[in-house]
Amino acid sequence: MSTVASSTSAELFDVRRTDTPTPAADREAALVSPKFGTVFTDHMARISYLHGTGWHDRRVEKYGPLLLDPATAVLHYAQEIFEGLKAYRHEDGSVWTFRPEANAARFARSARRLALPELSEADFLGAIEALVAADLDWVPAGGEKSLYLRPFMYASESFLGVRPSLEAEFLVIASPVGPYFAGGVKPVSIWVAEDYHRAGAGGTGAAKCGGNYAASLLPQQQAYDKGFEQVCFLDASTNTFVEELGGMNVFTVRADGSVVTPALSGSILEGVTRSSILRLLADAGHEVREAELPLAQLRADIASGAVREVFACGTAAVITPIGRLGGADFDLTVADGGAGDVTSRVREQLTDIQYGRGADPHGWMHRLA
Ligand SMILES: *Cc1c(COP(=O)(O)O)cnc(C)c1O
Repeated sequence: MSTVASSTSAELFDVRRTDTPTPAADREAALVSPKFGTVFTDHMARISYLHGTGWHDRRVEKYGPLLLDPATAVLHYAQEIFEGLKAYRHEDGSVWTFRPEANAARFARSARRLALPELSEADFLGAIEALVAADLDWVPAGGEKSLYLRPFMYASESFLGVRPSLEAEFLVIASPVGPYFAGGVKPVSIWVAEDYHRAGAGGTGAAKCGGNYAASLLPQQQAYDKGFEQVCFLDASTNTFVEELGGMNVFTVRADGSVVTPALSGSILEGVTRSSILRLLADAGHEVREAELPLAQLRADIASGAVREVFACGTAAVITPIGRLGGADFDLTVADGGAGDVTSRVREQLTDIQYGRGADPHGWMHRLA
């Protein structure tokens, strides 16, 4: 097991513990089978920003509602970014997270794109360490459980003029989560949206911002109404190339064992799970390619059997097999509609690293406690 020697600002956080923590019995009950994103821990980490002063007032405080002036910029112009990562409890009780430096770097890139102040890697990691230390008992053990960490930043200045906010708040909240699929990994069905896009050339698709999700909700709802579970987006310029789902990247596995994922186009979010899978599959001897993935070609290849597996990936659900792909004039089952071998193997390999059951050859794990 290896740790990444990053310096963090965790010791700079003023820890103001709540006087009314959740009673242990209630907490234990909440950890039995938590539904994604519904239960939150007792505390949140927070840092405030003021133009001229910079980032200040690092603290861990009681989890609770934010008081916002109705003119707060984020409510009007959506100047907001977020991240998602997990804390995993290993068999020996230690608590780890996965490649947080990659999330910190992406958060800084997202901030630049949204004209928000950048937060240093030391503060990003420090906030996570300080929060997990305060709420350590909330990190569940066993199964495929974890503590989901949600860092986010929003424009907090009360001002209706259109320019970047001079004030910002950075927070990290934490939510215990169970396995994404209660009854084991189940293949999902995907609807390819051909009349809506989540992001365009020169837009914010490569930044992790709430606005991209707002754009994806209506097409997601339409996919759902058509009997599909998730929506897949094409590039907005040509409506030709598969890009990604609303919150997950996409991979295809060919019959010859080679693997293709859409190349980063500027409107695709660069997933940490995506880059980790590219590495693990290459290590395992697969030919891996980042390339344009035309929908017409994918349809033909699924129909002919040249593409045998399709899967989606992201921190929340890790790796999800795609068993069915449909659109306005097609409805295809991928191979036999079940989870493929390459998909299942790389999923197991990745979760073994995250839960400390397997070797960590790339030093991806970062110890929190
Ligand atoms: C967060 C996200 C992903 C997955 O990224 P991970 O770092 O693997 O969790 C993929 N697509 C979009 C649009 C996302 O917001």
